[in-house]
Amino acid sequence: MTTVILKPKKEESLRRFHPWVFSGAIGKIVLDATHRANMPEEGELVCVRSAENEVLGVGHWQVGSIAVRILAFGVEVLPKGFWNERIRAAYKMREAIGLVSHPFMNNTFRLVHGEGDYLPGLVVDVYADTAVVQAHSVGMHVCRMDVAKAIVDEVPQVKNVYYKSDDTLPHKAEIEGEKTGDLIKNEKLKIKNSDEFWSVENGLMFRIDWLRGQKTGFFIDQRENRALVERYAAGKDVLNMFCYTGGFSLYALRGGAKQVDSVDVSQKAIELVEVNVKKNFPHASNHRAVAADAFEYLSAQKAAGRQFDLIILDPPAFAKHRDAVRNALRGYQRINAKAIEMIRPGGILFTFSCSQAVDKEAFRLAVFSAAAQVGRKVRILHQLHQPQDHPINIYHPEGEYLKGLILYIE
Ligand code: SAH
Repeated sequence: MTTVILKPKKEESLRRFHPWVFSGAIGKIVLDATHRANMPEEGELVCVRSAENEVLGVGHWQVGSIAVRILAFGVEVLPKGFWNERIRAAYKMREAIGLVSHPFMNNTFRLVHGEGDYLPGLVVDVYADTAVVQAHSVGMHVCRMDVAKAIVDEVPQVKNVYYKSDDTLPHKAEIEGEKTGDLIKNEKLKIKNSDEFWSVENGLMFRIDWLRGQKTGFFIDQRENRALVERYAAGKDVLNMFCYTGGFSLYALRGGAKQVDSVDVSQKAIELVEVNVKKNFPHASNHRAVAADAFEYLSAQKAAGRQFDLIILDPPAFAKHRDAVRNALRGYQRINAKAIEMIRPGGILFTFSCSQAVDKEAFRLAVFSAAAQVGRKVRILHQLHQPQDHPINIYHPEGEYLKGLILYIE
């Protein structure tokens, strides 16, 4: 097995269980006899040692600034039964917090959240009897079958495992094997594809299209925040901007909203919003779904003199990298200013950022600037974040990405 030896004093963060080894921290690489090239292969398991030869852990090698992602600390090789043990621990946590105990009410949850579940590079979302696996590292791609088998062994409700890593694996990596497709398929199950597939979140039914949908098919990370919209929606004129398949809209309708407008630039997403509203509220006549660009839609509505009592802004990550942060903050300020000026006095804004590179202080400052620009009185009612099934490993603060504010606007 290949050994990666760190430069002197570069082991401190690993001793504190931070799971990344940056390429700059590496002093020497000792390849085993199987290698033809002079570097480890992407995705291979390597043992990491300190300059004093202390074993620090075993992890996946990858080309890039994060060279190794540690899977197990203090051991030279992965222990036997490693994958089952980790998946079992992840499931146990979801059980402990009551997320899987009422499957008729909720069978939608994130089972594995990367570093937050001690499995860097891996995301697994469960939709009823199907788990959708997403690899963010070549190492996890290599191990995808081990992961899939462990999931069906350890998670009683899962019978199918679908793999969807086209957009998440590093583009430049040489990857063997398919990046999408079934890993495990139970042919006996009646529902065989995502065209007819329903999952339940807090008693609401959602069509999950993991084949063609964004990410793993759904944004589970907004579950708790959607429930808050339900609490505030009664009698209100609601705009759900960046609605995707209508998550927040269904909660607003159930909460007794007077009117709900769902807007997303994706026509496919809008078609799914219609399907979801029809399934849950077959007689609703107070919902409208519009395929439009957010900025254009808000400008047109403003020109028409329209106002709302409650607006939800849940845009895609404006900053995908650290160097894009400045532009992203400008984007957040712009969209929030547009929303704040369209809220009736005494109205509410739910505003979010899922850019990992924008921290909560920077986001709050962008929203503050938007409020000041419009010149309204604004108070913070709630500060929101990612839910319990997207845990943050305390030794890996980079795992925090979703933040939001609920504002009361006079
Ligand atoms: N709130 C959603 C998730 C939103 S994800 C939920 O609860 O499920 C972000 C969405 O923004 C995506 O659906 C994407 O299609 C949409 N989007 C991206 N750019 C947009 C734009 N310029 N105008 C409107 N929608 C946009």
